[in-house]
Amino acid sequence: MTAPTPPVKKISTPWSVQGPFKNAESLERRIGEMPISEHVGKADWKTEKHVPVIECPDKIAPDQIFDVTVMIGKEIAHPNTTAHHIRWMSLYFHPEGEKFSYQVARVEFTAHGEGAQGVDTSTIYTHHKATVSMKTQKPGTLYAVSLCNIHGLWESEKKLLVG
Ligand code: FE
Repeated sequence: MTAPTPPVKKISTPWSVQGPFKNAESLERRIGEMPISEHVGKADWKTEKHVPVIECPDKIAPDQIFDVTVMIGKEIAHPNTTAHHIRWMSLYFHPEGEKFSYQVARVEFTAHGEGAQGVDTSTIYTHHKATVSMKTQKPGTLYAVSLCNIHGLWESEKKLLVG
């Protein structure tokens, strides 16, 4: 016997949608389904090795180009093997008071020791750390999201002042 299908709940988008994409205004979600955000881990990076650490100035001038470094395992090293590694991280910026976030960068870590002789034989490993440069005229919050291939999604955030 199969479980009964849960009822469908209509969810409205916070913005209006024009023309042929009108259907996007009424998204449907089954009641009881968890959004992916409920599965993103959040913890203190000093005690949890998966949490991405964001390093950048606390305050920048408008349109000043500055570096943002995102790394995994600053305090407690995360494994980097063919079987267990960090696969990617994305950096987002959400301007204060605005509705939407912007993706600033996405970095794929694609070498994890795999080689013709088998797992962990190539000696080539991408380390899970990246520095990107960006600018903004608006203050807001930087968000980093990373994916461990076996321990899932993790996030962190850092406020950025402009002035
Ligand atoms: Fe992991």
